[in-house]
Amino acid sequence: MIEFKRRDFLKLTAAAATLSAAGCATTGASKGRVVVIGGGFGGATAAKYIRMWDPSIDVVLVEREASFVSCPISNLVLGGYSTMQEITTGYDGLRRHGVQVVRDEAVAVDAAKKTVRLARGGDLTYERLVLSPGIDFTFGDVAGYEAAMGAGGVLHAWKAGPQTVALRKQLEEMKDGGVYVISVPMAPYRCPPGPYERACIVAAYFKQAKPRSKVLVLDANPDVTSKPGLFKAAWKDLYGGTLEYRGNSKAIGVDAKARTIKLEVEDVKGDVLNVVPPHGAGDIARKAGLVAGNNRWCDVDWRTMESKAVKGIHVLGDATLSAGGMPKSGSMANNHAKIAAAAIVEILNGRAPQPVKILNTCYSFVSPKEAIRVSSVHEWDATQSTLIPVKGSGGVSAARSEAEATFAWSWAKTIWADSLA
Ligand SMILES: Cc1cc2nc3c(=O)[nH]c(=O)nc-3n(C[C@H](O)[C@H](O)[C@H](O)COP(=O)(O)OP(=O)(O)OC[C@H]3O[C@@H](n4cnc5c(N)ncnc54)[C@H](O)[C@@H]3O)c2cc1C
Repeated sequence: MIEFKRRDFLKLTAAAATLSAAGCATTGASKGRVVVIGGGFGGATAAKYIRMWDPSIDVVLVEREASFVSCPISNLVLGGYSTMQEITTGYDGLRRHGVQVVRDEAVAVDAAKKTVRLARGGDLTYERLVLSPGIDFTFGDVAGYEAAMGAGGVLHAWKAGPQTVALRKQLEEMKDGGVYVISVPMAPYRCPPGPYERACIVAAYFKQAKPRSKVLVLDANPDVTSKPGLFKAAWKDLYGGTLEYRGNSKAIGVDAKARTIKLEVEDVKGDVLNVVPPHGAGDIARKAGLVAGNNRWCDVDWRTMESKAVKGIHVLGDATLSAGGMPKSGSMANNHAKIAAAAIVEILNGRAPQPVKILNTCYSFVSPKEAIRVSSVHEWDATQSTLIPVKGSGGVSAARSEAEATFAWSWAKTIWADSLA
């Protein structure tokens, strides 16, 4: 049985007091406590599934935000085709599964003592720790970014929330005839098709509300990184004259006053500057010593999602060093969570975890009414010690269609419910 240590109780402040008020003390029958950091697609799913698959395991979720705001569908919010309310879900669904939700920020992990320090004070002890902190940006890679962002002159809106609202406002306030510029970082980055979907949706909004305006995509990559044929067809058929794409155009600086994005060879002017900076695993993963070798992402054992750098900690979602052919997506994070939940239940019951086959589906809206899809299945390969795409599985849509848009909405509602309800 895992209990708060006595000295931990003495250190409890508001956050941990809330935890105890919420009934966080483990029961006599508990097989152990799992602490989950991050209540996004990965963390929320892991917390819920551990409780569903073994209710005798105590699960504490530490999340700094009051509600979950979904990045999927957030591009439609930017175009005025969905709302913040529609993409926001509270954590009561997880509470109904017996997950103890603590609104706080995890600021440190002591893997030797198996404790997590909370910003508002107090330590949580764990038997197993799950980290799904998403991404944090390396703003320093784009000179002048933080100053420009502070002044409201540049936004990323690559974490759905206040920046989504702010970017929508900038698009609404932009004069007809203005230029919206989206800058895409070098892969791997969160949601490969996301920037191209965003370009489509902003172009659709411009065609409807500001027909003289332009969308310019500046991509650090040499070519479109996801569903290139389908996106390029949509740009040509639906947004010819409105949307321009430039590959090999890495942003190295931004000047809010001059309203320019600096590339290696030229400066590009725009009215709304939407620069997605390079990013890596969320900061807490770095602080916990999980970011190894590559210096950006966390290497894991794909049979259990356990970190290769620090035992007893499972890492999910965007923070992981993706296996071959695996995108950084909500769909993938939700599936990673099921690998980890199954493994943790097995481990805490004294059994050996078994590899799990998982799948990914990423829909992208190319207009408010039509979407495209890419999907893949990934299975454990003992020879290569990793998950690999199953030959002949998945693929992309034959063409954009209204049917795919219906499926995209169903996918979003289903994954929100699967992760949080
Ligand atoms: C515009 C856009 C569109 C997208 N569209 C799609 C799509 O259509 N389909 C798809 O599958 N994916 C899509 N994605 C990608 C998807 O959003 C991410 O891959 C997914 O959110 C990753 O899940 P995660 O659990 O790793 O991180 P997140 O979902 O980002 O969750 C991380 C959570 O951890 C919390 N957190 C971080 N650090 C701490 C800490 N120290 N203490 C407490 N809490 C902490 C954060 O507040 C956050 O709630 C899109 C992304 C963007 C930006």
